[in-house]
Amino acid sequence: MLDKHLIRRSSLVVIIALIAAVAFLPASSYAASGTIDVSTSLNVRAEPSNNAVVIGKLQGGQAVEIEEIRHDWGKIDYYGQEGYISMVFVSGVQDSASAAPNVQQTAVQSNAATEGYVQVATSLNVRTAPNMSAAVTESLYNGEAVSIVSIQDNWAQVEHDGNTGYVSMDYITTSENEASYSLSPLKGKTIVIDAGHGGKDSGAIGDYFYEKSAVLSIALKAQEQLENLGANVIMTRDDDAFVALETRAAMSNAAHASMFVSIHLNASSEEYVNGTEVYYYPDGDTSVQLASTVQENLISQLGSVDRGTQAADFSVLRNTQAPAILAEIGYITNSAEAANLLTDSYQQKAATGIVKGLETYYQ
Ligand SMILES: [Zn+2]
Repeated sequence: MLDKHLIRRSSLVVIIALIAAVAFLPASSYAASGTIDVSTSLNVRAEPSNNAVVIGKLQGGQAVEIEEIRHDWGKIDYYGQEGYISMVFVSGVQDSASAAPNVQQTAVQSNAATEGYVQVATSLNVRTAPNMSAAVTESLYNGEAVSIVSIQDNWAQVEHDGNTGYVSMDYITTSENEASYSLSPLKGKTIVIDAGHGGKDSGAIGDYFYEKSAVLSIALKAQEQLENLGANVIMTRDDDAFVALETRAAMSNAAHASMFVSIHLNASSEEYVNGTEVYYYPDGDTSVQLASTVQENLISQLGSVDRGTQAADFSVLRNTQAPAILAEIGYITNSAEAANLLTDSYQQKAATGIVKGLETYYQ
């Protein structure tokens, strides 16, 4: 039998313990919270895949804390075991900062970053400080993934490509699905990305690599970015295959493509020559405008020498019904530019320059 004092004392101990637990609960223990939105139960899996082993179930209506969200899979702590649930069946997802506004400061020290996605019509500026007058360090395109380090006063400190900066939370969503409801003018457009050369045709030959390899890497990155924006991308090649010039144009014509973008590297007998230029087929204003918006965006992304746009009678441009351009990203024969062209980050910037150029054209 328990006496009243003992009951009171034990209740008090529980209350103190709860207060202590709440006060000292690290904000990093979860990144987001939500509710299981299924009528029966939702499988918890060992890996973020529908084919992974089911380690347990969560009931519909149950609240859940998500440690990390990646590609529609939420990582959770399932009775001390790492588990994954499909975020498609989780509703009312809130990140930990907005769910628990009093612990935002703590969240700054948290290393449990939430994945966020840029949701913006054109591009989103990353700034050095959390205010609109701070300097812009880079810009992100729609659908691009960032790691949210912390959120305060509607500004997120984000990490992207190893750099940290601040973006307005107005343009960040934590749902990849939502981000794919793109506001991009390229959504639904059919765009041909033509990686120059391939197979037996190596293109220009640099000291360390062939033109055909670097342009394929850039083309694949452009494809990914465009598909993130909801564009329908046709690749004239997506591996080291030889494709005839006539075939490339025919692929574009058969698909009734809206735009054709050929990606190449330049070469010169003079080592010092470097920079970026875009060619267009002189068949009207469309290709000229497209060439200039892509050129401008390539220059702003790459910081390379602006060699301007020029008309050219290239086979792929002449035989393509869609507005067609050919971008010479840089010179494989210039050692500094060639070194840049080999890096993943420079290739990504080239892809971004092309994609933003296409978007700008439609705005
Ligand atoms: Zn070429």
